[in-house]
Amino acid sequence: MSQFSLLEASQLSRYFGSQAAVDNVSFTVNKGEVVGFLGPNGAGKSTTMRMLTGNLAPDHGQIRINGIDLLDNPRQAKAHIGYLPETPPLYKELTVKEFLQFCARLNGIDKKQRQTAVDTAIERCGLGQVAKRLIGNLSKGYQQRVGIAQAIIHSPAVVILDEPTSGLDPIQIREIRQLIRDIANEHSVILSTHILPEVQMLCDRVQIISQGQLVFNDSLDKLSQNMLASTLIVEFAQALSPAILSQLTGVEHVDALSTTRYRLHYLPEQNPTQQLLQHAVSENWQLTTLMPEQHSLEDVFMKLIQKEDIDV
Ligand code: ADP
Repeated sequence: MSQFSLLEASQLSRYFGSQAAVDNVSFTVNKGEVVGFLGPNGAGKSTTMRMLTGNLAPDHGQIRINGIDLLDNPRQAKAHIGYLPETPPLYKELTVKEFLQFCARLNGIDKKQRQTAVDTAIERCGLGQVAKRLIGNLSKGYQQRVGIAQAIIHSPAVVILDEPTSGLDPIQIREIRQLIRDIANEHSVILSTHILPEVQMLCDRVQIISQGQLVFNDSLDKLSQNMLASTLIVEFAQALSPAILSQLTGVEHVDALSTTRYRLHYLPEQNPTQQLLQHAVSENWQLTTLMPEQHSLEDVFMKLIQKEDIDV
């Protein structure tokens, strides 16, 4: 492997009663990566994150953080993880500074280094102006910054953020996304979201989870390619074998919608329309319909999730 995996999850499963909230999920996170964990509500994102951060025991599987087994050596492994849960664990009656000092102590930061760690986190998260204010009096956006500050205070290798922009207004969302970008310069990040554009804006790699299972795990480029992968609907006056259509250059596969109507899947740079028209004329295919279809990221997402529904 060329890149060093900071986090390795293998065959993770977690059941609630008989329901598998997370079902045999494996993945790695490399140094410097921002991984988006994407899925609809109830897909299993929080359950996975709680397991990765040592807050929930898996029923099966293994987690290694920076090479350390989380289940065997939770204290050492957790020192390399920062976690912002969906509901941040903030003490609202403390000031920002007091709370972060408390978090620094909780994370076992040496007394001598504590102040520097607190000051650095305050600076990195843009909390300088509100450091002396009570957390309970801050806006939701600023409270979220405090949540992120506590996640990075011990300079963990991996920062795990569960739905970090949920419940914020559009301006706060923009600011928190910018903060996540800054954080990503120094830490590997896993962030969960159900918002597709958020993944496009922030992530190098995308993992899509649906009903507890990973249905996609690849680069953002690959997802975009999938998005751009286009289809043509073609129809003929008489039956035509799909095998003939699949021989057209660039056609990846053919869905038979009926004996005369087909969907041709092709890569964007290899649109087979011209070749199809030439063959239709020279071989008298009696083409009656030729209709391009384009997929949005939303379609790709739905397709990946629906495939899972059908498999279940
Ligand atoms: P997501 O974060 O993607 O919205 P979750 O991980 O919270 O999804 O939930 C996955 C599934 O597990 C859901 O069906 C949810 O109802 C169930 N679940 C999560 N936590 C519990 C729990 N503590 N007890 C019972 N069921 C749970």
